[in-house]
Amino acid sequence: MASKEVSTGYIKKKVSEDKLMVQERPNLYDNVNKQFTKAADLMGLDANVRKILQTTSNEITIHFPVKMDDGQIEMFTGYRIQHNDVLGPYKGGLRYHPSVDIDEVKALATWMTWKGAIVDIPFGGAKGGIAFDPSKYTNNELERITRRFTFALGNNIGPEYDIPAPDINTNAQIMAWLLDTYLSTIPPHVRQSCTHVVTGKPIESGGSIGREKATGQGVVFTIEEWAKDNNFNLSDATYIVQGFGNVGSWVSRILNSHGSKLLAVEDVTGAILNYEGIDPDDLASYVNEHRGVKDYPKAKPINHETFFQTTADIFIPAAMENQITAETAPWLNVKLVAEGANGPTDIDGDKVLEERRIDLIPDILCNSGGVIVSYFEWLQNKRSEFWELEEVDTKLRKKIINAYAKVRKTANEYDIDWRTAAYIVALSRLEKVYKERGIFP
Ligand code: NAD
Repeated sequence: MASKEVSTGYIKKKVSEDKLMVQERPNLYDNVNKQFTKAADLMGLDANVRKILQTTSNEITIHFPVKMDDGQIEMFTGYRIQHNDVLGPYKGGLRYHPSVDIDEVKALATWMTWKGAIVDIPFGGAKGGIAFDPSKYTNNELERITRRFTFALGNNIGPEYDIPAPDINTNAQIMAWLLDTYLSTIPPHVRQSCTHVVTGKPIESGGSIGREKATGQGVVFTIEEWAKDNNFNLSDATYIVQGFGNVGSWVSRILNSHGSKLLAVEDVTGAILNYEGIDPDDLASYVNEHRGVKDYPKAKPINHETFFQTTADIFIPAAMENQITAETAPWLNVKLVAEGANGPTDIDGDKVLEERRIDLIPDILCNSGGVIVSYFEWLQNKRSEFWELEEVDTKLRKKIINAYAKVRKTANEYDIDWRTAAYIVALSRLEKVYKERGIFP
């Protein structure tokens, strides 16, 4: 029977004449558990703390109806997973994507706990998502889906309890709808003190200057530290980026302002290459208009494999998880992988990068700029303050390079890879807190 493999991102479909079979994709939560176990074993994490951190606290699944523009009702499934709140309120993004399922959201929530611990902010870990493809819905439908899900979440979110933020396919507008719905459903006399129920809001609705670019800015701050450590000059570096949404486009714009050259970009619509360099501002305008990099006239189209094989100094995955695998990691011709995305490298991919001595700045450190500036937004809302961009960027840089230094020190002390070192930094802080506070009763 004729069959061929079609790659649609990280879900491989085997298409045959009489059936469409979706191949099991790697379970993201298994990846997290393997990463966790490796670090916990190495550092000798307390056995009881281990049991707690290996488990998510609350797993909320909500099936909810939404009226479409044609008057028909469609059912949606959304999740909010709260992993751990020992360091502070649950915190994490909200993702709209067909691949969203409970294990993906559990993995993403768990990573948020580690992130908060590494960068020393008073937040725990959570994540949410709705399993659907937002590109197939109108703006009005997206608004109703967002509002209905927020309403259904009710008191499972809150400014001092669980604070959502943007992630894949969600943006400041979606956060504004979420904010408005939450505020509309609580008593009027507390409304004005609750705008910090969500971060990544539009500036006019209480957002922070610098939040939109924060994740990309943080990625670049960590790349700058790596460059210093390696006597590497970013002003004539080359880089390739997977994903040209919020994170990928901001990393590109900021790296370009350092003189680095963007050679290739891949997104969900295809991949492009230009050895002369791609102007990120120009590409961002194109992507805005055409919803992807496909057919960008100032670069040539390339396939997935050629994109991964492009020789460059730095690769920034800023799209989906499980992209750097046993299959794709051997293709890479780069010195550094800086993980803008969450979970872009699977366990096998990690092994190949290590064997090939390709440096890695792991996601839970590299992309933590988003949650750091979300923390700043939350603080500004609580204090009724508005900080200038310079203040936000200076504070972000300080936080993320402190975290970078801790991870570097731990990697050197244990003589281990940077992902495991980042885990050890996070787990050590959490272990300390559990030991100080004990377990109730
Ligand atoms: P986004 O929706 O703005 O952009 C996602 C990009 O990925 C798009 O360009 C899309 O075309 C591309 N993409 C999707 N599927 C793809 C595939 N199969 N192959 C290639 N490209 C594909 O999302 P974002 O906010 O930029 O998030 C990107 C990654 O960064 C995610 O892993 C997210 O969890 C992580 N992250 C985001 C933030 C944030 O503040 N937005 C913070 C930390 C981490």
